[in-house]
Amino acid sequence: MTDPSEPIATSPDARAIDAAPDGLGRYATRPLLARLWREYLRAHRKPMAAAVFFMVIEGSTLGLLSYLLRPLFDLVFVGGQADAVWWVGGIIFVLFVARAIALLAGRILLTRVAQRTSTAMQVDMLRHLLTLEIAFFQKNPPGALMERVQGDTVAVQKIWQSVITGAGRDAVALISLMAVALIISPLWTAAALIGLPLLFLPVALTQRYIRRKTGQVRAEAGLRSTRLDEVFHGIMPIKLNRMEAYQLGRFERIVNRIVNMEVRSETGRAAIPAMIDLVSGIGFFAVIMVGANDIASGQRTVGEFMSFFTAMALAFQPVRRLGAIAGMWQTAAASLERIYRLLDTAPHIAPSGGAARPATEKPPEIRLEGVHLAYGSLPVLRDVNFVAEAGRTTALVGPSGAGKSTVFNVITRLVEPQAGRVTLDGLDVSEIDTESLRALFSVVTQDAALFDETIRENVLLGRADSNAERLDSALEAAHVKPFLDQLPLGLDTPAGPRGSSLSGGQRQRIAIARALMRDAPVLLLDEATSALDAESERLVQEALDRLSRGRTTLVIAHRLATVRRADRIIVMDEGTVAEIGTHDELLARNGLYARLCRLQFDGED
Ligand code: ADP
Repeated sequence: MTDPSEPIATSPDARAIDAAPDGLGRYATRPLLARLWREYLRAHRKPMAAAVFFMVIEGSTLGLLSYLLRPLFDLVFVGGQADAVWWVGGIIFVLFVARAIALLAGRILLTRVAQRTSTAMQVDMLRHLLTLEIAFFQKNPPGALMERVQGDTVAVQKIWQSVITGAGRDAVALISLMAVALIISPLWTAAALIGLPLLFLPVALTQRYIRRKTGQVRAEAGLRSTRLDEVFHGIMPIKLNRMEAYQLGRFERIVNRIVNMEVRSETGRAAIPAMIDLVSGIGFFAVIMVGANDIASGQRTVGEFMSFFTAMALAFQPVRRLGAIAGMWQTAAASLERIYRLLDTAPHIAPSGGAARPATEKPPEIRLEGVHLAYGSLPVLRDVNFVAEAGRTTALVGPSGAGKSTVFNVITRLVEPQAGRVTLDGLDVSEIDTESLRALFSVVTQDAALFDETIRENVLLGRADSNAERLDSALEAAHVKPFLDQLPLGLDTPAGPRGSSLSGGQRQRIAIARALMRDAPVLLLDEATSALDAESERLVQEALDRLSRGRTTLVIAHRLATVRRADRIIVMDEGTVAEIGTHDELLARNGLYARLCRLQFDGED
């Protein structure tokens, strides 16, 4: 968690956006709501206006109802005009029918708009998240991001929906009831409102409190989702290490904190209508005192008093609900702030740097010049210089943690070096539009990442242009065929979450088939055959050799067989390039490579 007073993260080390539970002052409530209106609600202003119209009908019926009590009492009950009972009763019935229709129409319109805007918000958030660099996702756990995309948008939507309902129905009910009250007696109305000024300061303070507490609840909800995500993804190590009780305890602590904060924020939200109750009590008391006096002195009729008193009683609920909205605004603002803080996080790596370069058929030469990269104070690459020749195979060798995978990430621009440059045929990768850049690579890594889709979709990855013949030959070459035939659904077998229903070797072969289908001019392999048994390794190795022919290939190699075949070997150590040469040259030098060979490759080949 970062310090709440910190500005939105701008360095690669400070990209955690969760935190800052009380972002008071940073995103003031009113501009937040104005932005919500501008970006999401304004487009729906017509159906919203229609919904408000229906709610106005619904609301104004209450005013009319209270007004009709006057003729009911004065003409029918006191005056004894029996025929008046028909039209008064008839109008009251029609009012209720109008109310029912208006309620239904208003609710349908509002729900439609509410669903559309909240899903638009979710899509926008995901679209934005997809532009952010890998470092961002290493700081912000998936659970917390999911909570933001799903939880916060829904929280906001629920609230503005009740705000509109409240504004439409309750505000109009209140206005119409106030009008009735004023028509009957301005003096009584003034008496009813006597306690109002007492509300201002306590309500403002309570609002701040609600905002702070809800912000904390939302942040904790993010932690809760993160815990669940970690538990479900790590279910095997949790069971094997008997961490069930430990994980459960951590989860319970978070939910207990949520309970505490929720109760406090709800207390804040309830405090506003409660304060209104107190002030209304004062008002009722004042009205009875003044009213009783006026009736006793014969200045006013009982019907007038009953009409006024009913108007006041009917106004009571709308006033309370409008008061509750003042608290709910703050709840919405807390979630809105989290949404906008995410949407305002600018990507560090510009999604499209410059000129879009069409994917070339010709394999490019890859050159790293003086590349420096550090995570915080930890240098990972230090003055890395090397050339991977066009169409040749270059092996990256070195102890684990030497920075080999980071070299891949720099080349594909998943991370950006702090100094130096990476060029493809002399063109800086930061000047190539990201999409065309990534189209140049086929990447096969150790942890072949599969999606929870069918094997076919995992190989094709959404490509529509591939024909069955090509797919077939890729599956054949990657040696996927033999195990495919044993699966009941063949190509249409689901791979399971993260490919978990397949073995490591099967996942790798699918990843290789995927690379074959991509047919990109640069091949990046992270010892792609490590999870294979000896027999399939030989077959896959053949396929890879065929694949790398005529392509610029960089391979993070762990096996002597792979290294030997390479045209050039880059030996890395602690973020620097220690040696460069062919297998024989490097052995002759008797340096780090020769030592690694003796240690690592002993007994192989
Ligand atoms: P190799 O592939 O040679 O085993 P890597 O390139 O994966 O090495 O990692 C090099 C170093 O960079 C390691 O010390 C690793 O801890 C560090 N590192 C990699 N990614 C990150 C990251 N996102 N944040 C902090 N350190 C990282």
